[in-house]
Order: sequence, then structure tokens, then C-alpha cells
Amino acid sequence: MNLREILMGMDVHKLIEDFNLALCRAGARRQLLTEVEGYALSAYELIRPNAERVVYVSSGMHGDEPAGPLALLELIDEGILNEQVSWVICPVINPTGLAANCRDNFQGLDLNRDYFKKESKEITAHASWLDGLNVDFAISLHEDWESTGFYFYEINQTEDRPQRYERMVRAISPIMPMEKELVIDDHVVRERGWIYHENKPDEPKLWPEAIYLAMQGCPLSFTFETPSSLPLSKRVEAHKEAVRSALRMPL
Ligand SMILES: [Zn+2]
Repeated sequence: MNLREILMGMDVHKLIEDFNLALCRAGARRQLLTEVEGYALSAYELIRPNAERVVYVSSGMHGDEPAGPLALLELIDEGILNEQVSWVICPVINPTGLAANCRDNFQGLDLNRDYFKKESKEITAHASWLDGLNVDFAISLHEDWESTGFYFYEINQTEDRPQRYERMVRAISPIMPMEKELVIDDHVVRERGWIYHENKPDEPKLWPEAIYLAMQGCPLSFTFETPSSLPLSKRVEAHKEAVRSALRMPL
């Protein structure tokens, strides 16, 4: 992606097509969830009957956060779906936002606050698809315009394993620093760059995706956040390494 594409928004039809080709090539089955302003909103499933866990990955929720979908596409091209788990993936949740390089969707709705009210077509369809899944481990890829380092949210309804944090730091540190602020987005960190979030929403009716997944019983989720101020290539690299590191972690 060149600078013009970043400023103008991505070629989202091409991005959607690239994901479709890469995911179908890797053996995933496409589900068309809905269509938004001429863009297909698709999810993909690669279910392995004897797999130990179902891993869910999402990206492209906020349209001004391109590193997530770019990292996920590279990971798929590099064979991440060969990992012997079941995969469920929604790679481009907010196509109109990505096309406009804008956080919200074309109606000005923040999709990652819409999982309770479900006012948008995107989240109505996406949540309904999630309802039919039993996700064991969820990973969501995001970016932050205010931070200067990498950080992540963990919502854990299973065993607390702080060594996961240490692994994440080891994976990310060669690429970028962990976020240094001790309060991020109104949350006091547990360790540098680690928000250990309760399984309740910050605002009662503004549920993000990770809260919706927790309410459905997903035992563990990570939301990765890279700082928009760093070069895109670094942010993509950090997301890729964070996902790879998370997959290596025992549940
Ligand atoms: Zn975001």
C-alpha cells in the first residue's frame, strides 16, 4: 500500500478479493454475511473435526486502522491456516470505513461499540454469525492513534497465565516498544502494555466485539493495538508476530 492509498483509504474491493482468494486457497469456506454499500461482508470457516480449539481472528473493524487486515492477509498467504486448529475469520468487518480511511462506518457508527444495540447492518450480521460458533480463543487486530507503543487487552474467563504476557513482550520487543503509559484508554495497565480487562463493558450499552464474545462464553480473547504513529510496515510486523506468539501459547 502506498501513501496515497493510506490517505485516501484502501482499495477495499481488491482487499476483499485478496482475502477471498487467500482464504479459499487455504481451504476455508466463505459465508456471505451481508452486503454494505456494494461491498461483500464475508466470514470464513475452516473447521477441523479433531482440532483442540476454535480460533477466531477479526480485522478491519475501524477503517483508519489498516495494519490489522494487511497483517492478517500476509499471515494467511504465509500459511498460518496450516496450524492444526479450527479457524473462523472475519477479515474486513468495516469495508466502508476502510474505503474512506475513517474509523466509523458510512453512517458514522463506531462498529466496535455496536454489539449490544446492533444498529448497523454489519454488526447485526456479524453478531448473528458469531452466535453459531463456539470460539475458544479470539484475536482482534486494531490500532491506536494516541499510543506510542504496542499494547493489548486480555479478557480471560479461564486460567490466569501471566507467562503469556512475558511471551508477548519477547515477541514484540524486537519490533517496537510496549506502550509506556500506565493508564491506556482509561484503563490502568497490569503490566506495561497489558490491559487485563474484566468481562464487562466499560459502557453498559456500548459493547465492543471482545465483550460480546466474552458474554457468549469465549474463555480468552486478545485485542492487539499498534500505534498509528509508527511506520505501517512495523505495525504490520508487530501484528503478525503477536498473532504467531498468541497461537504458540497454551490455553
Ligand atoms: Zn480499533
